[in-house]
Amino acid sequence: MNAYMQRVLDEVKARNPSEPLFLQTVEEVFKSIEPVVEKHPEYEKYAVLERLCEPDRQVAFRVVWTDDEGKTHINRGFRVQFNGSIGPYKGGLRFAPNVTLDTMKFLAFEQTFKNSLTGMPIGSSKGGSDFDPRGKSDMEIMRFCQAFMTELWRYIGPDVDVPAGDIGVGSREIGYLYGQYKRIKAVWENGVITGKGLSYGGSLVRPEAAGYGAIYYLCEVLKRFGEDIKDKTVAVSGFGNVAWGVCKKVAQMGGKVVTISGPDGYCYDPDGVVTDEKISYLLKMRESGRDRAQDYADKFGCEFVPKSKVWGVKVDIAMPCAYQNEIGMAEAQQIVANGVKYYIEVANMPTTNEALNYLKEHCVVAPSKAVNAGGVAISALEMIQNSMRYNWTEEKVDNKLHQIMTSIYDVSVDAAEQAGFGYDLVAGGNIAGFLRVADAMIAQGIV
Ligand code: GLU
Repeated sequence: MNAYMQRVLDEVKARNPSEPLFLQTVEEVFKSIEPVVEKHPEYEKYAVLERLCEPDRQVAFRVVWTDDEGKTHINRGFRVQFNGSIGPYKGGLRFAPNVTLDTMKFLAFEQTFKNSLTGMPIGSSKGGSDFDPRGKSDMEIMRFCQAFMTELWRYIGPDVDVPAGDIGVGSREIGYLYGQYKRIKAVWENGVITGKGLSYGGSLVRPEAAGYGAIYYLCEVLKRFGEDIKDKTVAVSGFGNVAWGVCKKVAQMGGKVVTISGPDGYCYDPDGVVTDEKISYLLKMRESGRDRAQDYADKFGCEFVPKSKVWGVKVDIAMPCAYQNEIGMAEAQQIVANGVKYYIEVANMPTTNEALNYLKEHCVVAPSKAVNAGGVAISALEMIQNSMRYNWTEEKVDNKLHQIMTSIYDVSVDAAEQAGFGYDLVAGGNIAGFLRVADAMIAQGIV
């Protein structure tokens, strides 16, 4: 690595001793952008990389709420506003017991590149809490969301920072969060949060956007190899919002998703998660708050494999849609041994760096920063519709999503080729995302 990049990496490591996830993504990005950093000595002069790796600001706050028995609970809330050079901060909120500042920083850092790739005017942030939504009643969820927003509201706004959903935060939570923001500020600032319900300013196609976008991107990859999705089998992990959108679009296009998974194990459904009934059941499973994949196998009479991951199943395409680092070396070897040709990341950073390098040697790999950008891209379209106080048709939003995903693929392919990487979607996504942000940072001076 060149001397400037090595120095910055050493500084970032020294400054973040207890943030391994954040360091993992920084190292992965640095590998890709080296040729463009070499070409642009002004990046060092203007300390672009140093600034890129230190969030603009990060807040942590106490969230105090009471359960249905009247017992008081304390959770920790976060918002990391990473980079604001191309637009207001934008990124989801994650409620999950393993959320730490490290989780927030890695997600917000990745968001910088993802949001830039969309071509929309959105900076990067991420937030959330170590609150565990599992087994909570609706009223408990509401009280938690209200308590969380009672702290968060002072850091956000339609031109400041615009949260949305992520793991553990769906349309119900967005509704409660928005309601509390409106109550505190006594204004109808509709564009302060995205993923809203259709009755109060949401956008059509937003719920499906991350999954549909991933498949639009996948179609471009397949096209390059003279293939299409029809009759292909796909392994998916998880059964949340993103997995749901993937199943729905794959089914529409004549392919089939044959696995879903949860913390309890995975389901193998050789007929595919293809019928409306099966696809909507995924939503019910999520709404139930049980976080249990076995419910699907029980309902549809297919195989359930407890305490295992889906990657031993033989398929054409692997699409991890669950959690960070769910694919380490062991899983990557299984995927390669099964002859998977396309490894399409969907969840944020689902692959360890070691496994990612290995997979790149054996399959076509697409990075989550690009593949799952459809979610936040449609969030940006929701913000536009809110500012016009007017809603576009489903067809219009879906067409725009399709265009955005195709463009993300094209700019990634071009960027990698120009930097001498050949056909490398991982490097290309990182480079294309980086260049736009770096340009804007230099243009706006040392701030
Ligand atoms: N959580 C999603 C993501 O990681 C969506 C963010 C958004 O819509 O702002 O991109």
